[in-house]
Amino acid sequence: MIQLIRGVKDILPGDAELWQYLEHQASSLFEDFGFKNIRIPIMERTELFSRSIGEQTDIVEKEMYTFADRGGDMITLRPEATASIVRSYIQHRMYAVEPVQKLYTVGPMFRRERPQKGRYRQFYQIDAEVFGVASPLMDSQIIFMLMTLFSRLKVTDCIARLNSLGCPECRPAFKSALSAFLAARQASLCEDCQRRSDKNPLRVLDCKVPACRQAMDGAPSIADSLCPECRRHFDAVMQHLTLMGIPFEIDKNLVRGLDYYTRTAFEIQTTLLGAQSAVAGGGRYDGLVKMLGGPDTPAIGFAIGMDRLAEIVALHLGDFSRRPQLFIAALGSACQTLAFEWVNRLNTEGIYAEMDMADRGLKSQMKQADRQGAAHVAIIGDSEMAAGQVLIRDMATREQTAVPLETFTEYIVTRFDGLVKSRISDDFVKCSQARRANPEE
Ligand code: ATP
Ligand code: MG
Repeated sequence: MIQLIRGVKDILPGDAELWQYLEHQASSLFEDFGFKNIRIPIMERTELFSRSIGEQTDIVEKEMYTFADRGGDMITLRPEATASIVRSYIQHRMYAVEPVQKLYTVGPMFRRERPQKGRYRQFYQIDAEVFGVASPLMDSQIIFMLMTLFSRLKVTDCIARLNSLGCPECRPAFKSALSAFLAARQASLCEDCQRRSDKNPLRVLDCKVPACRQAMDGAPSIADSLCPECRRHFDAVMQHLTLMGIPFEIDKNLVRGLDYYTRTAFEIQTTLLGAQSAVAGGGRYDGLVKMLGGPDTPAIGFAIGMDRLAEIVALHLGDFSRRPQLFIAALGSACQTLAFEWVNRLNTEGIYAEMDMADRGLKSQMKQADRQGAAHVAIIGDSEMAAGQVLIRDMATREQTAVPLETFTEYIVTRFDGLVKSRISDDFVKCSQARRANPEE
């Protein structure tokens, strides 16, 4: 038997419903905040990631799935979504129509990390990006939006960890102060950090190796070297978070694993996850659009780790799999033909109805209904047909109701709210048709 490759997983029915629920909760909240959905490819030119994420980062140095395609181009499976969304913003000149764009996407990312609980090689993110807003109000608003999502999902023990990474004005001085500090401590750093301390000293700050943590005690803090503009920005973000009652703490070692961040960097943490405690991370990247060939455009974004979010939400939510509202147990070919017509009609009216298609007896059909967890069973055989009515049994209460054959589907649709749903979708279609007919509106 051929098995999954290491670090990837199947999301099976029963769990997939939870994932759909998370996607739905996130996208409806984000859309209320003005975000629009965008779908970007899973493959991009390698150069897009190496240039934006940074050559000296873990992701680019050792985690990307990169291959030469048959024409020789170097292609990479995306390790994150920001770079692609920036590319798309520039390529389609979205800024020419409206510089402020709020975009979100959901999908798989690929990083060749060491697999463990909460850490996979194919994992999923809900990613959101805002272009064209420099104000610290936006930083606070997206953290607020994230916290709102987590509280709707009843993930209540979240805290935002926050830092400012400065800007090209003030970061270089901090970088060299940090390099000087590290130079005196080379011997106590791990191998990776010895290598990083010269080229990318900020990364040493968030190394998880205990010896490095210890060696970093008393290291200079970026908060002390922010330029006045960055200081004001950071203070404003904190002020608005406080006003909105969002729990946060400053973490002067928070640097994040990608080079493009400027000013605000943040992570949302929860205690429910054990070692992999970050459920979302993000920050401002005011220089990236320009660096990738677009106009000078401030931007900020974040990504939620869906695998970790699903693990937390599953702790307090039960089984999500949908069970039939109705199972029609039909006996004999005339009744089966009728049941077949009914099932199809009900399914198109927004009711989840099932039937047996294998000519089984009543007893085994009842077992099948039970196994599927059907809420109601309708029984129709020759005697029901002759009497002109169907018996509907509520499987929880065992109560039975007789309903005339001619009004059976109407009865079910009304009773189970089927039409309500289909009316909503009809309205949606009508409304979008009207908009297409009168594009001015
Ligand atoms: P971590 O510090 O956990 O490695 P990161 O800083 O690399 O996270 P980001 O690139 O900011 O993560 O991605 C945002 C979120 O995506 C993380 O907070 C996490 O929830 C999730 N995530 C990142 N890498 C993985 C992975 N390999 N498997 C599962 N989820 C992941
Ligand atoms: Mg990581």
